[in-house]
Amino acid sequence: MGKDSHHAFEVLVVGGGPAGIAASVRAADYGARVGLVDDNATSGGQIWRGASEGQHSQDATRWSGLLRAADVTKFYGKRVFHQPEEGVLLAEGNDELCELRYRHLVLATGARERFLPFPGWTLPNVMGAGGLQAMVKSGLPIRGKRVVVAGTGPLLLAVAAYLRRQGAEIPTICEQASWSTLARFGAGLLAYPGKIVQARQLKKELAGILFAANSWPVAAHGGQRLESVTISRSGRTEAVPCDYLACGFHLVPNVELPSLLGCEMKGGYVQVDDFQRTSVKGILCAGEPTGIGGVELALVEGQIAGLAAVGETEQARKLFRERQKARRFTNMLDRTFRLRAGLKNLPATETIVCRCEDVPLSRLRTHASWRSAKLHTRCGMGPCQGRVCGPATQFLFGWNPDSVRPPVFPARVENLAGLIPGAEAEHRAISGGSQ
Ligand SMILES: Cc1cc2nc3c(=O)[nH]c(=O)nc-3n(C[C@H](O)[C@H](O)[C@H](O)COP(=O)(O)OP(=O)(O)OC[C@H]3O[C@@H](n4cnc5c(N)ncnc54)[C@H](O)[C@@H]3O)c2cc1C
Repeated sequence: MGKDSHHAFEVLVVGGGPAGIAASVRAADYGARVGLVDDNATSGGQIWRGASEGQHSQDATRWSGLLRAADVTKFYGKRVFHQPEEGVLLAEGNDELCELRYRHLVLATGARERFLPFPGWTLPNVMGAGGLQAMVKSGLPIRGKRVVVAGTGPLLLAVAAYLRRQGAEIPTICEQASWSTLARFGAGLLAYPGKIVQARQLKKELAGILFAANSWPVAAHGGQRLESVTISRSGRTEAVPCDYLACGFHLVPNVELPSLLGCEMKGGYVQVDDFQRTSVKGILCAGEPTGIGGVELALVEGQIAGLAAVGETEQARKLFRERQKARRFTNMLDRTFRLRAGLKNLPATETIVCRCEDVPLSRLRTHASWRSAKLHTRCGMGPCQGRVCGPATQFLFGWNPDSVRPPVFPARVENLAGLIPGAEAEHRAISGGSQ
């Protein structure tokens, strides 16, 4: 197999967000040989990536400093896509295939946004809320643009505040949860002084923007690109002119890699014990794949996983109380931002549900399961491998994705060919290359 580099670690961490950073730092504190791999150009994960020094929270500054100082081998811009044998992962970068061997593995693969299909959702400039934020962080000019922010979850507020700081105009923020649910959530925050501080800050930053509960987008309109969005607001619809729609319906965990490695799942999340150990010996998991709980939970779970991976269970135990509190917040998030059943009526018959393979709702309705829909319509078989339409069809039809097969991310043909005896030589012959 034509691997360009081989590395072996006592502790290998996949995912360089808060959970992965914390796991790496804590494992390295005890002298373990630690490797950290992330598919982005820098560490920080979804929340800290791309912020300039001045925009970093105290936590971000502290943990980035600890990671810089720690003896951790970093592999940025590399995506883990396969486990060819136990204790070995393959990661692909722009120009390199890495073989990463491990004794203990910490999976800290985070979460992604959930998208729900509605008429017009595939128009240019209709984007995920976090996706638009990431594009602006990478240089997309947003100053003076009108951005409707809609869907559900606390991410909407964080994104709206960020976009406003970058000069965007936010005509409205639409949250599908009801006012009474949000009021209960607000009261529950009193137990979390850190969250209260964040909430006050957001309130200040979002002052003057129309925030509507019981509201969601029902259609996006435009010719070549988005021109307006129809919003359902407490039962009445109205059109809001805009340049972008930043839309996300809370988060779903990235559990494809843990599933591929055989980790036991429950309710869509990776099952872990007190020390963040999964059902597979030597594999631990921390952060969003074990439950959508925010950055504090990711940090504390990451630390416990890192400590447990190097056998420092007594040190890990000291963090249990902190984790317990952070987990209660996860339950609050789940209850508050649960999707209302009425959203199942958002897509019209001809609305595309699987955008990679252009599969409309009408072609999916006749199937009884994800597997049947996949086999007959190619739903979920495009480049995103069901990452977008999988959670959507789970909500719309109650379908559960079946087992995950490698590669968990699209990989280059020459790297896949290397996994099959004889196929690499055949691939070289076909492509006429002499690699
Ligand atoms: C799009 C988006 C934007 C968000 N923005 C905010 C925000 O502005 N404010 C806020 O409070 N919270 C935000 N959140 C929530 C925040 O991410 C979580 O609260 C928390 O920080 C999660 O930490 P984590 O370490 O578990 O995961 P993440 O921070 O998601 O880190 C996981 C990392 O693993 C990488 N990864 C996954 N699979 C692989 C693989 N196979 N190979 C290599 N690398 C891999 C991912 O690319 C990612 O960098 C956002 C979430 C999302 C999905």
